[in-house]
Amino acid sequence: MNQASAGHLLWLIRGGRATTRGELQRITGLSRSTVGHRLDQLFRAGWIRETAADPLDVPTVGRPALRLEFDASHAVVLCADLETRHARAAVLDLSGTVLAEHSGSLLINEGPGEVLDRLGQWFAMLLDKAGVAAGAVCGIGLSVPGPVDPVSGQVVQPPIMPGWDRYPVPERMRQAFAAHVSASGGDIPVLVDNDANLMAYAEQRRGFPDCSAFLLIKVSTGIGAGVVIGGEMYRGIDGAAGDIGHIRLSDHPHALCRCGSYGCLAAVASGRALAEQLTAAGVPTTSGSGVRDQLAVGQPDALRLARDAGRLVGEVLATVVTLINPGVLMIAGDLAGPPFLTGVRELLYQRAMPRTTAYLQVVTSRLGDRAGLIGAAAMVVESLYSPDRADSRLNGLAV
Ligand SMILES: [Zn+2]
Repeated sequence: MNQASAGHLLWLIRGGRATTRGELQRITGLSRSTVGHRLDQLFRAGWIRETAADPLDVPTVGRPALRLEFDASHAVVLCADLETRHARAAVLDLSGTVLAEHSGSLLINEGPGEVLDRLGQWFAMLLDKAGVAAGAVCGIGLSVPGPVDPVSGQVVQPPIMPGWDRYPVPERMRQAFAAHVSASGGDIPVLVDNDANLMAYAEQRRGFPDCSAFLLIKVSTGIGAGVVIGGEMYRGIDGAAGDIGHIRLSDHPHALCRCGSYGCLAAVASGRALAEQLTAAGVPTTSGSGVRDQLAVGQPDALRLARDAGRLVGEVLATVVTLINPGVLMIAGDLAGPPFLTGVRELLYQRAMPRTTAYLQVVTSRLGDRAGLIGAAAMVVESLYSPDRADSRLNGLAV
């Protein structure tokens, strides 16, 4: 990282590390004129603005310092959060505020071509609804219910996304964007990540910014986990970290999982598994969201099964929590409610060492159904405005 570049100053301003010209000079050691020159680049790009300081801070002598801040309204991000049978899409400003949103039925098993083309149509409609020009879109972020290679943006061996394995998602999304939104948008940046990762990223940043080890478990149709360490998503060496739904339990050898193995956690404790168990108990249910509906009306079999599922997940989490020692364990997704949490707590506290859970908060989602979208937007913004990328973009180099 070039410590003297405009991108670096932007990074200091965005993170609240420096909010005045004087602070930038002090932190970087640059001269007043060099700081001024770098800031001019950022002003010209429309990325920062200067506002009057807090009236209470005005000095009695001399001019009041003007506060520098990132201008979150100078561009927008398009994001989509794909579930197996349903999707949510939105246009957001760069601070993650939703400007327009749409959700509807979208079957992931129709395959990436069909799904991404439909998203292109949704994005065009959303920009229209928000009154935002296509030219203001700086990037697209997608949240998917499967493992993602963070470098290529490809989904890798996803158990519940038939037809998506190694499919060039970013390229196809760019095509759909160019076809439905803006013919000149063929090179728009498209970033893709796993839903649990992005939800964890959003929830940690918004609700628990001081938590240095944050763990989120998403239990909807499948089961996944997202880990944020020191404010950064932890993906492992190739994006496979956190796929806890396919940890094999020793005492369910006959439960067939979507991944082809037997006895996986997801085969007995996911929304899909509970839908099957509820159907067998005489309550026809087809998906994780169907189970959520039954839980919402207090259906007794659903409540009992959710608590049992929570116990199974809690047993696996005892190991996970012992390894990571998180400050927060957040339970999110269709099954996240009191019965499931009760089951998790029961086994977790019974099986994990007291020392690893002494300061652990077990909580439910704060951002709810929007967590994936907000996480996807944050991923795009953090990538596009990182110091090196910001410098490349300011210098008109390839983004
Ligand atoms: Zn499995």
